[in-house]
Amino acid sequence: MTMRSIGIMLAAGAMLAAAPAQARNDDGAAPQRARNIILFLGDAGGVPTLNAAGIMAHDRPQSLFIQSMPHVGLSDTSALDNWVTDSAAGMSAIMTGHKTNSGMISALPAADGAITPVKSFLEYAEQRGLSTGVVTNMPIWDATPAACFAHVATRKDKDQIFRQMLTPRFGNGVDILIGKGQADAVASFAKDGTTPQAAFARAGYRFGDDPALVKDSGRAAVLRDADYAPIPAVEATIGQLARNPKGYFLMVEWDMHTDKPENGLKHVIEMDEMIRRVSAIAGKDTLILFTADHSFGLRMTSGKRNAPMAQQYAAAAAKPGATVASNAIIGVEDSHTGEEVIAAAAGPGADQVHGFFANTRLFDVMLKAMGWTKED
Ligand SMILES: [Zn+2]
Repeated sequence: MTMRSIGIMLAAGAMLAAAPAQARNDDGAAPQRARNIILFLGDAGGVPTLNAAGIMAHDRPQSLFIQSMPHVGLSDTSALDNWVTDSAAGMSAIMTGHKTNSGMISALPAADGAITPVKSFLEYAEQRGLSTGVVTNMPIWDATPAACFAHVATRKDKDQIFRQMLTPRFGNGVDILIGKGQADAVASFAKDGTTPQAAFARAGYRFGDDPALVKDSGRAAVLRDADYAPIPAVEATIGQLARNPKGYFLMVEWDMHTDKPENGLKHVIEMDEMIRRVSAIAGKDTLILFTADHSFGLRMTSGKRNAPMAQQYAAAAAKPGATVASNAIIGVEDSHTGEEVIAAAAGPGADQVHGFFANTRLFDVMLKAMGWTKED
């Protein structure tokens, strides 16, 4: 056998190894199992917030891409100890399948104030050799991203969350990280006598503050303190994660708290455009989920159908007596609220998302979509 024919055989073997785990019909029918999962988490993105954002942006009801997703259910968000959850317990339930106390990150309360860590879906993915990513417009150590990779008694334990980011329990940890909190990272790593640059480089990451860094292959951590354009960052992340033939898990959090309504509603539109774009490029073997960790006390309280809502909102907000939180168009009670949030899904495994269910079920939905079984 010539060197050339051996080379061809090796190349063919590599191609076979790179084929998706599940068979795809020749007619292009959708695969039964997901190879990839992208979880879009609208932090505080309750139904009233989606409703107001869609009408304000497009002057049509149910005009969001999220509102066109084929499978929808209603998820209870209560925490183990409270009816109205914070992001820590809310996201921990989705990521681990266990409800926990408010403030706890992917861990359950144990005797004498101790905690028991519970494996996150991202850790299941790392253990099985998939690539993983966490992208957020909040600090990378904040509760929602932290619940993907850290296990701590309190979400405030920034130092420990940064340490655990670089000492994964499974696989080699999150492969691509994009978020805010650069100054926080400098402060936390200084306590261990190092810098984020040095610590991330030692763990095999390219490190910087520009999301464009992700376009070069390999592991990357982007920490910054300013906002960034979401779609290019998420597209570049998916481009890298999708190089792994075993698949990937990506969590994208976009903050939708509406204590400042204009910011929150703008972020809904940003994430909605992101999901529209990603749905076009992700491939049929990708389960796409959107949900919120909890709802928020925003309501649209009036508005005429014959004039642009954004103009009506601006006029109402400018009137004497109007406050940021309350004008003739929008009323805000500045608090998380306890009603169900939507979960919307498309792709393999999405048909599991229907009816009313506990937020912990979203963990089961992801596990089953991959064909994995639960271990504790
Ligand atoms: Zn939250």
